[in-house]
Amino acid sequence: DTSLVWFRRDLRLYDHAALYQALRKSKAVFCVFVFDKAILNGLPAEDRRVAFIHASLLELDAELRKAGSALIVLHDDAVSAIPRLASRLGARAVFANRDYEPGAKERDAQVTCALEAQGQQLISFKDQVIFETDEVLSLAGKPFSVFTPYKRAWLKKLLPEPGWHSDDLLSYPVDQHADRFARLPFSVTARVPSLDEIGFKTPVAIGTDFSAGMASATKSLDAFAARIAAYDHDRDFPAIDGTSRLSVHLRFGTLSIRAAVRRAVELMRTGEGANGAATWLSELIWREFFSMIMHHHPHVATQAFKPEYDRITWEGGETAERLFHAWCHGQTGYPLVDAAMLQLNRTGFMHNRLRMLTASFLVKDLGTDWRWGERYFAEKLIDFDLASNNGGWQWVASSGCDAQPYFRIFNPVTQSQRFDPDGTFIRRYLPALKKLDAREIHAPWLLSSSRLQDAGICLDRDYPAPLIDHAQARQRTLERYAVVKSSS
Ligand code: FAD
Repeated sequence: DTSLVWFRRDLRLYDHAALYQALRKSKAVFCVFVFDKAILNGLPAEDRRVAFIHASLLELDAELRKAGSALIVLHDDAVSAIPRLASRLGARAVFANRDYEPGAKERDAQVTCALEAQGQQLISFKDQVIFETDEVLSLAGKPFSVFTPYKRAWLKKLLPEPGWHSDDLLSYPVDQHADRFARLPFSVTARVPSLDEIGFKTPVAIGTDFSAGMASATKSLDAFAARIAAYDHDRDFPAIDGTSRLSVHLRFGTLSIRAAVRRAVELMRTGEGANGAATWLSELIWREFFSMIMHHHPHVATQAFKPEYDRITWEGGETAERLFHAWCHGQTGYPLVDAAMLQLNRTGFMHNRLRMLTASFLVKDLGTDWRWGERYFAEKLIDFDLASNNGGWQWVASSGCDAQPYFRIFNPVTQSQRFDPDGTFIRRYLPALKKLDAREIHAPWLLSSSRLQDAGICLDRDYPAPLIDHAQARQRTLERYAVVKSSS
């Protein structure tokens, strides 16, 4: 009895729902990953995500070879390639973990149809989240649209009893049946193609380096657990290594969400860094919240969660294009906003506080449609996740669920003074400003020309003058958003 496990955003060989079930239920298990042309064709050659996936596949393949098997890697259209391979291997079923993005659901529905036409099945499992789709509902049986009550219900479902132990959290121990990984037939070649062969290049990462793979994810989780006590405080300061940096591993499943949650709960229970661990768990719940929102309200992928926010008229034309271009390239004249955009462009990562700040600046200072920024982040972020990115952008634009009131607008200078008080993060990305002290660096345009000269800065040559005046921009935003008030 043979089955095929189709890896997608779950690139690990431990605690893996689909793999565990396939090994339990079949005598011979093959593993496949498809570099899906339908997805890859739109990506730039130096895409960091493709390189991350590629490196993770090399690790998967090496581990499978130790078990006498190998990873089948295809560069094809998944909708046709998976049924073709399943038929060639004589698999009774294809096992996969569920993906909740609208495009993935559509793809899986097509694969299901094609398999069924051949007398085979696609069997899917929950793996990417602790609670999926409608597992956490309100007392009235409805999906939540506000985070805090969702979180309360989520925690109650996870920890129903005071004596509940983190070991009770389900896990899928793959190694129990590791002897069932099958040797590949001669007709199937297993070799992970090089990046070059699939039309990609190794990206040049400056600064932050994300090591791919499950071993590296586990190491990062261990390292973060040792500093989780400080998370509560440190997580808001981009110059400090205060957050876990595990988003990319959660995105591609090189880290199991159950392992992450188990660790957080253990640390809460033992009292070691309990507050930090509880705050971190809360962030993991945000991830599930947005996944649930995307499932129940797929319109958010293109429209505002609250329809009245689609009545807002955003800036357009050449001026909007010019301002957007400056924002993308870290040329707004607001140092922390610019340093953040450079962090994104150079490393593929941006700190959460800075995602909120740069997004707010684009929408509420430059009057740009949040969808432009959402698209730019989607292109650049190594941890890009449709649901979390969309949720973050709509939160900032105030158009989403749990919206902060639209009249609460981040001030880019005071945010900079609070969250990068010494200017350490700014100096890391904007060496032109390195001679300015902690008081000066947040708003260089306010300095006298002699002070600027002393620091070797000529505004607009070495560093841009601000694109807009924040106070005036704020006023324009309040006027722009007034249509929401009048329509509600
Ligand atoms: P930690 O602080 O260590 O948090 C732990 C984990 O919790 C993260 O790895 C992530 O999986 C999850 N998480 C944390 N904050 C959030 C949140 N607000 N929403 C959903 N999940 C969260 N996160 C993504 O994973 N992909 C995205 O594409 C993405 N786009 C964003 C866009 C905007 C405009 C904003 C404001 C936030 C976005 N986030 C996104 C959420 C958050 O910024 C990142 O998850 C976080 O910065 C990743 O760093 P970390 O792993 O060190 O986080």
